[in-house]
Amino acid sequence: MEGGSHGIVASRPGPLVPGLVVHKYGGTSVGDLERIRKVATRLQRAVQHGRKVAVTVSAMGHTTDRLVATARELHARPDRRELDMLMATGEQVSIALLSLALQDQGVRARSLTGAQAGFLTDGAFGSARILQVDPAPLVRTLEQVDVAVIAGFQGSDANGELTTLGRGGSDTTAVAVAAALGVAECQIFTDTDGVYTTDPHLIPSAAKLERIDYDEMLELAALGAKVLHPRSVWYARRYGVRIHVRSSFSFHDGTIVSALPRAQEAAMKTDRPVTGVAIDTEHARIDVVGVPDVPGVAARIFSALGAANVNVDMIIQGVPGNSRQQMSFTVPRDLAAEAVDVVRPVLTEIGGGDVRADEAIAKLSIVGVAIGSTPGLAGRLFDAVAGVGANIEMITTSEVRISVVIAKRFAEQALAAVHEAFGLGRNGPT
Ligand code: ADP
Ligand code: ASP
Ligand code: MG
Repeated sequence: MEGGSHGIVASRPGPLVPGLVVHKYGGTSVGDLERIRKVATRLQRAVQHGRKVAVTVSAMGHTTDRLVATARELHARPDRRELDMLMATGEQVSIALLSLALQDQGVRARSLTGAQAGFLTDGAFGSARILQVDPAPLVRTLEQVDVAVIAGFQGSDANGELTTLGRGGSDTTAVAVAAALGVAECQIFTDTDGVYTTDPHLIPSAAKLERIDYDEMLELAALGAKVLHPRSVWYARRYGVRIHVRSSFSFHDGTIVSALPRAQEAAMKTDRPVTGVAIDTEHARIDVVGVPDVPGVAARIFSALGAANVNVDMIIQGVPGNSRQQMSFTVPRDLAAEAVDVVRPVLTEIGGGDVRADEAIAKLSIVGVAIGSTPGLAGRLFDAVAGVGANIEMITTSEVRISVVIAKRFAEQALAAVHEAFGLGRNGPT
């Protein structure tokens, strides 16, 4: 169960530090020294207004990507523990630099690594879950200084091993800080001014949402809208933390992620069944063909993947009745080679078959709380995808989403067509 049975919040809810605000700045927002100074100035203003700040920062710019690429130059499949050790250095650079920029502006500030900030995680290197955040170190720090600068995306497990929370995980750090310190809102500063109907960098006509419900945001995030890390939304919903996604380059309000009032949700069901469209090009499809069509085969394959910590997303299986069966599933692209290596020996054990990976796929999804109760949406989606000449390779549906897998080369065209087909753009009928 996500979050663990005891949850991340130590004991008592309610604000532990009077006047505390919780901010998070992503990679672009701290991309160079000038931007770090700008962040420091914004925090200085908050302090001048009598606030204390717990601020989480990401690694500068594309640092994490570069660190991963460097590791891969030395080793084709880097050990996950060493990769975490390496990736975590990116955030440590940012916290030290931001603290120095703050001190230069006369603000009392101190940096803390994830472990120093009380983040206890499980031991899953590369995708660790937060088990608990001990608020004591942050409370102590904020008694002594005005700004605690926390390294996003990292923690340590019960053995003191350094762990990371999965790419994009600094959002989760920030929400967990808000939950642990009893702060009602977590402000996530990024390079767009809110959550849009789809990625505004891909589709310029995308419309900004004033508010979005946790459930819809969770789906969009899980389906590839990287504006928020999925687990950050999960923790926000679990602990009732409101997220304000906003631009680090302006002072305008952004998008509020919270529980929408039921009446508003009901109205949305008839007016606008689709809230947003997400595209994910970070997965690969694994095809397993020619396996015996007998009980237990799927269990063997997916148990082996689970034991190797390879998380599987969409799964489809062929039509039953033949003596041989085929199935396809998707995994994070980084894990595709590992998935093939894990499945291959299982096939030998169960009596044959072959496995291969296709890394050039895209998953396109429509999201909305009323999708399951609105007829005709699947047809409209498939029609828009067919209109750009893309073949649909896989389909999955739930009450709140419909996803299709297509060849990656159609991704942007199909996204534009689907966004348009559901009238989501700024000039659309909604
Ligand atoms: P940060 O480094 O601040 O964490 P990210 O790059 O992780 O920023 O996330 C912000 C990016 O998310 C935006 O620049 C945008 O391209 C992308 N994005 C994808 N889907 C959406 C969406 N629906 N609304 C807003 N941004 C989105
Ligand atoms: N620096 C990490 C990454 O690039 C974490 C984050 O930015 O949220 O994935
Ligand atoms: Mg991010």
